[in-house]
Amino acid sequence: MQRNNAVETTIIRTFDNYISANIILGRLQQSGIHCVLLDEYTVTIDPILTNAVGGIKLAVDKEQVEQALRLLNEFDEEYLRSVICPNCGGNNIIQVSKQSPANIITAVLTWLFSSYAIATEKVYQCQDCGYETEKIPENNTAYN
Ligand SMILES: [Zn+2]
Repeated sequence: MQRNNAVETTIIRTFDNYISANIILGRLQQSGIHCVLLDEYTVTIDPILTNAVGGIKLAVDKEQVEQALRLLNEFDEEYLRSVICPNCGGNNIIQVSKQSPANIITAVLTWLFSSYAIATEKVYQCQDCGYETEKIPENNTAYN
């Protein structure tokens, strides 16, 4: 893929799923975000290389990062409402902040280096059975 040097881009998410990546790309583009998928070709042709290249990368125009992230959050929330728990089949998964020692360290680091934005660790948790996952389960067709 040709790199466009005219516009600086930032990778805001990686996907290991070609279909999800393209649906998100399409939805962002519909919202006026300039974005591209990188390494899409490699991943599609040779899935073994997925780890080597870090999956399909979603890169957006640097000036639109904030807007794109906000949209991604909206998509995620919308998607979350329709996600089925892979463990119990319930439809009650929410995103929660993980309370772990790592978070205390993160809090201290955030305090020490307050100019750095350190993301809180988030997990997706089923309210019915307590199942937790770091990635949104891709077990239905809500994105289609
Ligand atoms: Zn469950």
